[in-house]
Amino acid sequence: MSGVNDIRSTFLDYFKSQGHEVVASSPLVPRNDPTLMFANSGMVQFKNVFTGQEKRPYSRATTAQKCVRAGGKHNDLDNVGYTARHHTFFEMLGNFSFGDYFKEQAIHHAWTLVTREFGLPKDKLLVTVYSEDDEAHGLWKKIAGLTDDKIIRIPTSANFWRMGDTGPCGPCSEIFYDHGDQIWGGPPGSPDEDGDRFIEIWNLVFMQYEEAAGGIRTDLPRPSIDTGMGLERIAAVLQGTHDNYNIDLFRALIGAIADLTSVDPDGPMKASHRVIADHLRCSAFLIADGVLPSNEGRGYVLRRIMRRGMRHAQLLGAREPLMYKLVPALTREMGRAYPELLRAEALITETLKLEETRFRTTLTRGLSLLDEAAKDLSAGQSLKGDVAFTLYDTYGFPLDLTQDALRSRDITVDVEGFDAAMQQQKAKARAAWAGSGEAATETLWFPLRDRLGATEFLGYDTESAEGVV
Ligand code: ATP
Ligand code: MG
Ligand code: MG
Ligand code: MG
Repeated sequence: MSGVNDIRSTFLDYFKSQGHEVVASSPLVPRNDPTLMFANSGMVQFKNVFTGQEKRPYSRATTAQKCVRAGGKHNDLDNVGYTARHHTFFEMLGNFSFGDYFKEQAIHHAWTLVTREFGLPKDKLLVTVYSEDDEAHGLWKKIAGLTDDKIIRIPTSANFWRMGDTGPCGPCSEIFYDHGDQIWGGPPGSPDEDGDRFIEIWNLVFMQYEEAAGGIRTDLPRPSIDTGMGLERIAAVLQGTHDNYNIDLFRALIGAIADLTSVDPDGPMKASHRVIADHLRCSAFLIADGVLPSNEGRGYVLRRIMRRGMRHAQLLGAREPLMYKLVPALTREMGRAYPELLRAEALITETLKLEETRFRTTLTRGLSLLDEAAKDLSAGQSLKGDVAFTLYDTYGFPLDLTQDALRSRDITVDVEGFDAAMQQQKAKARAAWAGSGEAATETLWFPLRDRLGATEFLGYDTESAEGVV
């Protein structure tokens, strides 16, 4: 069985042998890109290379990129614990051509790697192409020998990639693995495609057009390639499981959680084990890249993830801080590939411990309030917005934590009511200042309020205050 660390190397070594420069992952906080909250794919660090604004000494590259999808356009936070294939933090393996090789070579490399290097059986694989992309359809037939029923034409934007409103764009082709009919889910393009039977392992983007304002497309003189394969997903396939959380890396993290809590990781509390393992990894990598918990922007995403993890630790019966004790298991698994984890180990541990310690008392009290307020609600009903706001404002419960807590009972939160309560409180705050004759700015008022410690304030908005794509 190949472990995650070997699979990562096999991928990078293959592309290295094919003339690609092995480039290190960029940090999770994108440099010079205030529009993007976190790196969420391998191409982020190469954006300006694709547009031609930046030149590199190589025209082919390969990476294992740290990605976070827990805010902004790509947000998989709510999928964690519920699907077998989503994480908030994951590694994306990719190969890139900057005006060098194009579609035929990209398909050739992908097929060779998947079927020869990784040895996957052809009959378990199927691909999608963009409906109008006859060229890709023909190439999959020629190179892989796939029959028409295994090359699914997708007419939607899901198979057409754009960098932004204008700029490079082009059709995509995705490779799926069929985990077999004992698992629920339909093939791509079918109504049940969100199930976990057919799992997308690799996405190839053929950047062949330049789109100008008004939707006018011209052919790029030197088209490019951008691909992304989820390391945890290909590891699942290679380790004979359909479930990312059963791969070696996650078994090790979940094993550490089970040791500390004595709760069966495969029993009814399975989802909590997964959420904790996932959120630990995400928090640790964010802290290692310089994000610290705060009440806005990136720091608030981190705080939400940490606190969400802490509630699940509480569900497993942890009566004292737990997540910080899992850091050694994480560094054991991932420290060699990502030495920044080792360098930041003390900071990660202290940050988790402090946040866990601070949140413990309000977490316990807030959960009792929530239980009380939701005890008479039944499936399909929603919790009052002002209760969710009190939990947020007084007990430090991010809105999504409250939503997550009610989800297993199929109860939602009245988000409009929550927003209204928030607005009302802001208005009150302003009025209070207007009366004093001072400039009624939140920048003045809120720190003061924090210092006086009336309540714990945790952010202006449920979403980031930053310009997220
Ligand atoms: P899905 O449709 O399954 O959500 P996606 O189409 O959103 O995946 P892409 O944006 O194409 O994903 O990213 C490239 C690859 O990265 C995917 O083919 C998949 O293998 C992996 N990937 C994407 N999102 C996640 C995630 N949240 N956790 C783990 N792997 C992921
Ligand atoms: Mg997705
Ligand atoms: Mg997809
Ligand atoms: Mg995709």
